[in-house]
Amino acid sequence: MSDSGTQPVSDLPDADTVDAIQQALIEWYETDHREYPWRETDDPYAILVSEIMSQQTQLDRVVEAWGDFLDEWPTVDSLAEAPRGDVVSFWSNHSLGYNNRAKYLHEAATQIVDGYDGAFPETPDELQELMGVGPYTANAVASFAFNNGGAVVDTNVKRVLYRAFDIPDDDAAFEAAAGELMPEGRSRVWNNAIMELGGVACEKTPKCDTAGCPWREWCAAYESGDFTAPDVPTQPSFDGSRRQFRGRVVRLLGEHNEMELDTLGHRIRVDYTPDGEHGREWLRGLLSDLSDDGLVEIDERNDQTIARLQ
Ligand code: SF4
Repeated sequence: MSDSGTQPVSDLPDADTVDAIQQALIEWYETDHREYPWRETDDPYAILVSEIMSQQTQLDRVVEAWGDFLDEWPTVDSLAEAPRGDVVSFWSNHSLGYNNRAKYLHEAATQIVDGYDGAFPETPDELQELMGVGPYTANAVASFAFNNGGAVVDTNVKRVLYRAFDIPDDDAAFEAAAGELMPEGRSRVWNNAIMELGGVACEKTPKCDTAGCPWREWCAAYESGDFTAPDVPTQPSFDGSRRQFRGRVVRLLGEHNEMELDTLGHRIRVDYTPDGEHGREWLRGLLSDLSDDGLVEIDERNDQTIARLQ
């Protein structure tokens, strides 16, 4: 658990479960994740540049700009010495938008060279003293460069926490839950992992099964089928729909041995209505496909349709 000084968050599971949740996420991240060049370095300057660039700019677009920027100004000293106008021009030429970020970055480099003798500040508190560096960026740089950060909380992380653990839509609650979930001394891998979860699995349209989300067994949204979130106010369409529902049927039947049609329907989708568009007829079709694939057996018994794994 984190020693961030936050109060325990009662909505989170017990400590043993939190240990399992931590392990599952780290293993999932370490098995496979998107490769970004700034994930291959612990140079705080290079990481700060990547963090400032990725604010409000898509990561894929940042990759090229980040490489070019470091070719031009490979060290914090070289950036501090550069004319500010050159940095701003670089920003516009690479369509990074919000040119103030270029000014802030240049100013931050000057602060580091003048105020810290070029030795990069290592704590989130010190990093927040730099121009243009807020709590999120400070924790990210402290984590990725020094494994010394607090839990990062951005929109993706909020969405994950809201869905998985029913954390209320409140900044203080998100901060507390994120801090409590983060394993002590592992901010580098943890913050990368939870942001990756929000970026490739728990997206606005979640990919719980297709992305192999490691939190499915604990996730409140996965259990209820309600995937709304603070930034997703209406129920998103399901990723890969049929494929996702097939996965859910198989998982539930694995847990329950056998299930009656409507009970199963209500467990796999929040909008299941027996006689509606996504009702018995739809579910019978899904089960029939699964039966053709040799996965599920369907029994008609006492006027009831019962499904079980083959
Ligand atoms: S199971 Fe789905 S909703 Fe829950 S955390 Fe994973 S991706 Fe998000």
